[in-house]
Amino acid sequence: MSNTHDLFAVGAQVERGVGRLEPERAKACKYGDPLCPCQDGDMCHYEGPNPMTPPTIDDIDTADHVHHAPSGEDWVVAYVAADRLAWCGWPQGQAALADCTLLKKATPGELDKLLREMADMDGNDMRAAYARGRLAARHEPPNVI
Ligand SMILES: [Zn+2]
Repeated sequence: MSNTHDLFAVGAQVERGVGRLEPERAKACKYGDPLCPCQDGDMCHYEGPNPMTPPTIDDIDTADHVHHAPSGEDWVVAYVAADRLAWCGWPQGQAALADCTLLKKATPGELDKLLREMADMDGNDMRAAYARGRLAARHEPPNVI
């Protein structure tokens, strides 16, 4: 009987341990990798003699804020396609992605909100088509209330 008791105790301990570790694990290293061994004091995956390519967390994506150097304007990004960037606002249009620098990365919530707003725009807009395609690609089940 004491065996059973011990097993339960060990199980509870493991669960508490996992719960304690999760938040630390979620913190990314300076290259944006939450699973990098440098978190534990080892050599960083992205440094040293044979570094890996860092994750591209600074890639510009929908809902990010960017600065467009040629026009001096700040935009909210509608979408990025290859080396072109489409902005939110009117008239719709695109600029060279290389002319844009990231000002503020959107949160997942902001990204999601903008995708849904763009998907609701009237028919013949590239941004609406993009947003509908991206939302559809997630295979999200319809909202059931
Ligand atoms: Zn690292």
